[in-house]
Amino acid sequence: MSFLWQRLCLRSPEIKHLKYFVRNLNLLEYQSKNLLREHGVAIQNFCLLDKEDKSQLKQFDVDEYVIKAQILAGGRGKGHFNNGFKGGVHFTKEKKGIEEITNKMLGFNLITKQTPKDGIPVKKIMIAESVNITRETYLCIAMDRSHNGPVIIASPAGGVDIEAVAEKTPNLIKNTPIDIFEGIDEEKAGEIADFLEFKGVFREKAIKEIIKLYKMFLKLDCTQLEINPLVETDKGEVISVDAKLNFDDNAKFRQREVFEMEDVTESDPREVEAASYNLNYIRMTGNIGCLVNGAGLAMATMDIIKLHGGDPANFLDVGGSVKEEQVAAAFKILTADDNVKSVLVNVFGGIVNCAIIANGIVNAMKSIKLKIPLIVRLEGTNAEEARGIIRSSGLNIQAAQDLDDAASKAVKSI
Ligand code: GDP
Ligand code: MG
Repeated sequence: MSFLWQRLCLRSPEIKHLKYFVRNLNLLEYQSKNLLREHGVAIQNFCLLDKEDKSQLKQFDVDEYVIKAQILAGGRGKGHFNNGFKGGVHFTKEKKGIEEITNKMLGFNLITKQTPKDGIPVKKIMIAESVNITRETYLCIAMDRSHNGPVIIASPAGGVDIEAVAEKTPNLIKNTPIDIFEGIDEEKAGEIADFLEFKGVFREKAIKEIIKLYKMFLKLDCTQLEINPLVETDKGEVISVDAKLNFDDNAKFRQREVFEMEDVTESDPREVEAASYNLNYIRMTGNIGCLVNGAGLAMATMDIIKLHGGDPANFLDVGGSVKEEQVAAAFKILTADDNVKSVLVNVFGGIVNCAIIANGIVNAMKSIKLKIPLIVRLEGTNAEEARGIIRSSGLNIQAAQDLDDAASKAVKSI
């Protein structure tokens, strides 16, 4: 996502779907744990089940099971389901009891502090070997702009209430910036382990875990690697019990295996489709669908629509090196939204060729039979040719003189 789009989202609090803007890949806990295991980090054994496939559980026999709903949000332990069932994390010693619990989770929405208010549907469940926790700590490694590099955030008061700890007892949280060129050594990891109050054999183990986690963070181009809780057990182990990993989208080209794990079932399908055509789709709350090129023009378009008393329903940014089939795809995505009551195309041809946009629009219009008003403003490279293409298409398209005229026509058309 370009810097300008990020600026746009910061400027516009009405943009509800912030998470769709900064498209940092987010993985489910079980996927994150598979990566942790590959990097030698201590985790619990686990298996996975979903509605169709419960076969993995047959071979999984332990003394106590922890049952964890898999969604892309934290706070599951204290969450509840839309069927009234409480808690996204459950324990049982009886293998027979697992099915009764998972039946109340699978297919239902889990609502937590971190989900939208309707929650997120649970499609997968992790069954892990429960460990006897004697102490819970918090460890997070994040790329931090203010330090221009990684920072390790640690707290001896880990577990389900870390937000409250940050708010009420900030002295229990320590930030340790790491020089990305120097990395982390045993001494530095030791200081963090001390702050986390690991002692004796636990201290030695914690140092090893912290170093492994840091190496993995860098190797996989993470933007965040959060372990909450990082625990001590009654068997003298230091284990990552919960993990939340985010990755830098700009590193997609070199982290193919990681990015292939992306589960898009929780994402807005239109945004997913737009991404597959290399387009940026941003959903908003109004009723004018906007096809633009570039974030700057999108900002101007939004301002001017608002000035005329209207509200954008979305933005579809086709970018600079757009091809005809991308325009057609963009058009279909824009108009598939029932909230869109008119469409405004606002393109300034600098790098982009307006004739390509015009051909894309005309072809898309022929196949989708648009029933709502379409206002087009094309300016810049090949604008004359583009206007000719639209005029000779015989389609019902309103041409606008300039941006102001375009916005005014779009608002009036509704
Ligand atoms: P979250 O609520 O989404 O953060 O899910 P977690 O995986 O962090 O689980 C919530 C809490 O459940 C943890 O902070 C632990 O206190 C507890 N928990 C999770 N797994 C285990 C386990 O194996 N054994 C024990 N005793 N507690 C666990
Ligand atoms: Mg947790």
